[in-house]
Amino acid sequence: MDFAWGDEQRKFRAAVREFIQREWGDGAGGGEEERPDRARAYSKALASNGWLTMAWPKAYGGGAATPWEQMIFAEESAFASAPTGGQGADRVGPVLMIHGTEEQKQQHLTAIAEAREVWCQGYSEPGAGSDLASLQTRAVRDGDDYVLNGQKIWTSGAQNADWIHVLTRSDPDAPKHRGITYLMIPMNTPGISIRPIVQMHGAAGFNETFFEDVRVPAVNVIGEHNRGWYVAATALDFERSGIQRMAAAVGPFERLLKYAQTNAKSLAGTHRTAVADTAIEVEVARLLGYRVTWMQSAGLVPNQESSMSKMFGSELQQRSARRGLNMLGLAGALKPGNPQAAMGGEFCDLYMRTVSVTIAAGTSEIQRNIIATRGLGLPRG
Ligand SMILES: Cc1cc2nc3c(=O)[nH]c(=O)nc-3n(C[C@H](O)[C@H](O)[C@H](O)COP(=O)(O)OP(=O)(O)OC[C@H]3O[C@@H](n4cnc5c(N)ncnc54)[C@H](O)[C@@H]3O)c2cc1C
Repeated sequence: MDFAWGDEQRKFRAAVREFIQREWGDGAGGGEEERPDRARAYSKALASNGWLTMAWPKAYGGGAATPWEQMIFAEESAFASAPTGGQGADRVGPVLMIHGTEEQKQQHLTAIAEAREVWCQGYSEPGAGSDLASLQTRAVRDGDDYVLNGQKIWTSGAQNADWIHVLTRSDPDAPKHRGITYLMIPMNTPGISIRPIVQMHGAAGFNETFFEDVRVPAVNVIGEHNRGWYVAATALDFERSGIQRMAAAVGPFERLLKYAQTNAKSLAGTHRTAVADTAIEVEVARLLGYRVTWMQSAGLVPNQESSMSKMFGSELQQRSARRGLNMLGLAGALKPGNPQAAMGGEFCDLYMRTVSVTIAAGTSEIQRNIIATRGLGLPRG
């Protein structure tokens, strides 16, 4: 097994790092949630460089980047808490390439590639998350339109989005996977309102999204009426290596390590062990992510391998935050902005911020179910 990078890959990584440093910074100013205006400008810079849609085929104006290039880009972006493609480039564009009409492709693909359209995702509802197919937002056909009523929740970035892609219940009498229609809706359509959900670390990255008699032209259906579940399944397949979860833990860990090295006297033996554990786990997470990328580059379809990478990487983010918080003592539990806070409150913030990472994009329990059933052949309970 040869883990060395080639010259091209090293050059590419250096170029990505330099670009991110110049256009976004080093992550010290927070992520996309804290800097939505900069996120839009940054997407335009990515677009000009051909990196916003680097994964798209050349036929659609993309860069046809290899899985390894995409992985390097994701890894470097996560080191600096920089946004990558967003919903438009990562989900909507690829889905339209497969299921969209010619008109839909014409309308959206270039706009997404040029960062003129920012998208958010309306899948989850108060009663439908892990069991997404039980969603209830109702879409009733009325002439050339659908009329929508219902509520979505946890809609990340809705406050900054131009469009939303939404799963709706179009046939309440059909078996639940067969009565779902997938729609694209401009966020300024009358009847759509959003309410931000403020998280415990103070940012409001996601929202409740309400639909009240929202009229959507039927030409905005992706795929076929009542067949939206299968289109959405394509969208959910565009999971990458998951390397960003490991990479997001690395920056804070390196800063913690430096702090620990210079404050060694105050370190208990258990803290030393915890730092060593994190160092090992970062390497494990890195290899789990690289395995997914390797499978993609070999034309294989990762399944439980993606679940392992997602689960381990996100739990590592939480463990690493908890260990840092314990190590820094009471001063580490003070928030950023407090002059007494150890390490500027970074680990207090991280501890609160990472609570959600084992829930977003499929909970740890769901990932374990996938590993157990699809990976290890255990029967469903
Ligand atoms: C940061 C963040 C961003 C998000 N962004 C978006 C977004 O932009 N758009 C969007 O549509 N959604 C978004 N979500 C929602 C996310 O997809 C859901 O939170 C997730 O799918 C879990 O659903 P739920 O919250 O309804 O929990 P539930 O599904 O109700 O789960 C509750 C608990 O039960 C457990 N559980 C459920 N089913 C099983 C089972 N079969 N076996 C074992 N345990 C089980 C879960 O693991 C969990 O611990 C986001 C969530 C987060 C945290």
